[in-house]
Amino acid sequence: MGDLRSRILEAIRINGPMPVSLYMTMCLHDPQHGYYATRPAFNQDFTTAPETSQVFGELIGLWAAHEWLAMGKPSPFHLIELGPGRGVMMSDALRAAASVAGFNEAVRVSLVEASPPLRKEQSARLFQRQIHHAESLDAVPPGPSIVLANEFLDCLPIRQFVSANGAWRERQVGLDKSGSLAFGLGPPAELPDHLVPSGEEVEAAPALETFAAAIARRLNAHPGRALIVDYGPTNHSPGDTLRAYRSGQQVSPLADPGATDLTADVDFGRLIRLCAVQGLTTHGPVPQSDFLIRLGALQRADTLSRANPHRAQETRATINKLVDPAEMGERFKVLAITSTGAEKPPAF
Ligand code: SAH
Repeated sequence: MGDLRSRILEAIRINGPMPVSLYMTMCLHDPQHGYYATRPAFNQDFTTAPETSQVFGELIGLWAAHEWLAMGKPSPFHLIELGPGRGVMMSDALRAAASVAGFNEAVRVSLVEASPPLRKEQSARLFQRQIHHAESLDAVPPGPSIVLANEFLDCLPIRQFVSANGAWRERQVGLDKSGSLAFGLGPPAELPDHLVPSGEEVEAAPALETFAAAIARRLNAHPGRALIVDYGPTNHSPGDTLRAYRSGQQVSPLADPGATDLTADVDFGRLIRLCAVQGLTTHGPVPQSDFLIRLGALQRADTLSRANPHRAQETRATINKLVDPAEMGERFKVLAITSTGAEKPPAF
């Protein structure tokens, strides 16, 4: 079997152009050549908040411990992370939450991860804990739970629609005259009616619906919370936001199938509406800077700096990266989802 590009070219020659969502799925999740299946070195193409500073995971751990107390200290309860990457956030979160009496004894950690090499890395990093890898959110045993997801929803495959001459058409990946991958447009199509376009281009993530339904199944059956950190608009659906990254550089999404990270903005407005339909309450989203500062990020930076004066400058710089509006502070947003009747969680 050839590399991913030749297989995609072959599929297009046989079946015709494919929607962007299928292209994205093949590039990210092909079991042999997909980005998440093969990539040996996470953290090179892009850097996430937990990889930037330990304070991110620590504050999320304390937030989770607070919500566990608010839920009446259920034991056992499930702490679930979706797309945990290298396991850094979970590791920092558990270390911080262990300071709350009873938390360590009550917590059962489940990780939902599509990538076999990353599953291995998570197990290695969290070797001191009993962790459980689950195929999906529904596969985690029932019970009270807190679900965490940082930069997970932006990997969900998206469909793109473009308006031209009064008709919407779906963007497709096909071949140009020289036989190379190229974007094109399909025949006039109905726009999915939940979309709120703000211009001539609009994106839909069909899996967002599946995601909200799975969260609702858990949080409606037992007390629970979900904490979602990602980027994207709240007042309209994303436009054309599909991006590809390799070694920290933005490249064309068609440049190197399977070798680049593909991502798209999250339709927070749609997620909030889907949660409401399912009877769940949402809080926020608030900018990441507000969330972290309200939870004490700056005080934590001072404490760490005093404990390690030779690293004080680096500590301040990394936390600043998380909260500075010009860096990750404004672009990243935090949304909490709670079972009905829960009090507003801290920082919202
Ligand atoms: N949360 C981590 C990693 C973010 S990258 C961090 O902040 O550092 C996205 C993560 O989601 C990766 O671990 C990737 O393998 C995983 N992932 C992407 N799509 C997934 C899917 N459909 N199911 C499970 N995990 C998925």
